[in-house]
Amino acid sequence: MLYYCSGKPPAKRVHRHLWTWPKSHLVAITGAGISVESGLPTVDDMVAGVPLRSLFQPNIWREQPLEAFHAFRVIAREWQRKRPNRAHLALAQAEIPIITQNIDGLHRAAGSTRVIELHGNLRELRCDACGGIFQSELAWREQLPKCPTCGELLRPGFVLEGEEVRHIARALDWVTEARGLLVVGTELQMTPVRELYEVARRRNVPIAWVRDHAEDWVPYLLGQEGGSDSLFCPGEV
Ligand SMILES: [Zn+2]
Repeated sequence: MLYYCSGKPPAKRVHRHLWTWPKSHLVAITGAGISVESGLPTVDDMVAGVPLRSLFQPNIWREQPLEAFHAFRVIAREWQRKRPNRAHLALAQAEIPIITQNIDGLHRAAGSTRVIELHGNLRELRCDACGGIFQSELAWREQLPKCPTCGELLRPGFVLEGEEVRHIARALDWVTEARGLLVVGTELQMTPVRELYEVARRRNVPIAWVRDHAEDWVPYLLGQEGGSDSLFCPGEV
């Protein structure tokens, strides 16, 4: 059972099947759409004169590390000031395990403890030479932060284009054990999350796919807000 949730609830009718939507043993897959209301830049934005999209390409870190780290500092500071919205908070309150494509850290900021960040995060820097992981504050102290262990130039803690996503085996375990899947703010176009979704489809567990207005839908679907006959989930496919 797949429920598409779009438009702004409350709306005019109740989807009768939604009453069977499970409230426990859910797993959530989230993407950029869940953070829109928190005011984060998108990959199409420019940050410090650099297109955000280009920071995910490995060559900028090799060829223009000064410019790349300058943009990194601007972004990391800006994103540290952002706050989780009602969608992040609702997932945290319900203690739902989260598999996210986001690097913004807002699920952890909301208090979620079981979070798989498939694409890494902005909180950390990594050393490709020795495998060390360090807090991104090292980039505040040096223009080109070096690994405290081996002295090599560090790189951002998020996954660059062409690299493997992280913790996909554990994510697969979670989806395999879930009794329901909540997809929020992602079109599932990228391979690993699409595969996770397909696993849930094959298992025939109910899936709610929140396309927009995540800050309204997520608390709703988790039974934390509203209820009554204002609940609306258009279209079951
Ligand atoms: Zn190192």
